[in-house]
Amino acid sequence: MKETDLIVIGAGPGGYRAAEYAAKQGLKVVVFEGDNVGGTCLNVGCIPTKTYVHSATFDEARERMSSVVPQLRAGVEAILSHPNITLIREKASFENHGDCSCCAEHAAHRGTAPVVRAGEEVYTADNIIIATGSETKWLPIAGCDDPRVVDSTGILNLETLPKRLCIIGAGVIGMEFASVFHRFGSEVMVIEYLKECLPALDSDIAKRLRKLLEKRGITFKMKTAVENIADIDADLILMATGRKPRTEGLNLAAAGITQAPNGAILVDDNYHCVCSDGIVASGTVYAIGDVNGRQMLAHAAEMQAVRAVNQILGKTDGIRFDIMPAAIFTEPEAACVGPTEDQLKEQGIDYICKKSFWRANGKALAMGETEGMLKLFASPEGLILGCHAYGAHAADIVQEVSVLMCKQTTLHELADMVHIHPTLSEILKNAAD
Ligand SMILES: Cc1cc2nc3c(=O)[nH]c(=O)nc-3n(C[C@H](O)[C@H](O)[C@H](O)COP(=O)(O)OP(=O)(O)OC[C@H]3O[C@@H](n4cnc5c(N)ncnc54)[C@H](O)[C@@H]3O)c2cc1C
Repeated sequence: MKETDLIVIGAGPGGYRAAEYAAKQGLKVVVFEGDNVGGTCLNVGCIPTKTYVHSATFDEARERMSSVVPQLRAGVEAILSHPNITLIREKASFENHGDCSCCAEHAAHRGTAPVVRAGEEVYTADNIIIATGSETKWLPIAGCDDPRVVDSTGILNLETLPKRLCIIGAGVIGMEFASVFHRFGSEVMVIEYLKECLPALDSDIAKRLRKLLEKRGITFKMKTAVENIADIDADLILMATGRKPRTEGLNLAAAGITQAPNGAILVDDNYHCVCSDGIVASGTVYAIGDVNGRQMLAHAAEMQAVRAVNQILGKTDGIRFDIMPAAIFTEPEAACVGPTEDQLKEQGIDYICKKSFWRANGKALAMGETEGMLKLFASPEGLILGCHAYGAHAADIVQEVSVLMCKQTTLHELADMVHIHPTLSEILKNAAD
């Protein structure tokens, strides 16, 4: 059996960041990756979709994707070539080493390092980080085996632009593809079961964005459940109904690792695997990124990696996982940090809401990007609680709010901060003024 300090399973943003950081801190790391390094984000997620968003035509998008992705993948390969890292291009799974590693009744197993198999070799380590990501969640809709149905990976592999595209699901993935394929020239229809698109976004902002895309020609069928794929009149159907943690073949039970009913690996706030009753495992196994189902975002996976490695090193950090900004790269884009107005109301939190509009901003007018609105929430005393916005470069503006929240800034303090003129960031300052 081969021994190392840290085993990382999966080389997506969570896994490669964990390996990089741990290796730089002097740990010997073995990384297992069953596919291309870079994970979902680099190969079939964030990066390919954003090359689509920033290309004028479908053909240009395909060409740019085929040069950008390998370029970034080479960057990750370079990170993983650190002398303290051994990259093994195999799928890994746990070997049976006893019962639950964390319950009191299995105390005999406390501290026993789980064993990981990859091909013919078995490995063990003081610490193991599971970072195996997520995969498309296919809804059991009749006719799903129709050859017209693809997921987000399938649509990125298309060689010709579909004339009529139907998207099932108006979440982040569905809305991004709807926006970009409409711009490429497809006739796009989005079918959504819920009343509004993008449930994590303030409903006011989400509605305005949807209405704008509707005005531009995308058809939305809200509060509609697809019952049979055969009823859909389209050349291509994108299943964009969410993602689920990827744990198949890991043999988690062999290491006593517990999953929630949706398949997510149960973890505590330091990403230690825990039992369903919340007892922390013996400290050897962590699960970061999409596989724990907490915040399915690339930057969340990276920061969870840093927290897990800090735990291994016995270091504390100040990462605020409760302040997690997110963006939706439609045209225009949308972004958010903190609770929606509906959530503030539901939770009985007193708040004030300041609004500001792109059409009142000099830079936005100069750019011809006048569509957009920002909602900035604060406590009655002025402490910034969150921000939801849509409009050109909304993600950059919301990122500023995220930093201000980490520093517990008030509206008054924001109003006193000089912002460059003319910039879109003045939209934020105007809301605070
Ligand atoms: C279409 C799309 C667009 C997206 N856009 C964005 C965006 O703009 N911004 C954003 O923040 N997020 C975006 N995401 C989400 C983002 O891709 C994920 O949150 C992120 O990739 C999660 O990182 P991870 O390291 O947890 O997992 P992944 O990136 O999924 O990586 C997991 C890795 O583990 C490997 N693996 C799995 N099982 C095994 C095994 N048994 N042995 C060895 N290796 C294994 C896999 O091959 C994979 O490489 C998007 C996702 C999709 C699908």
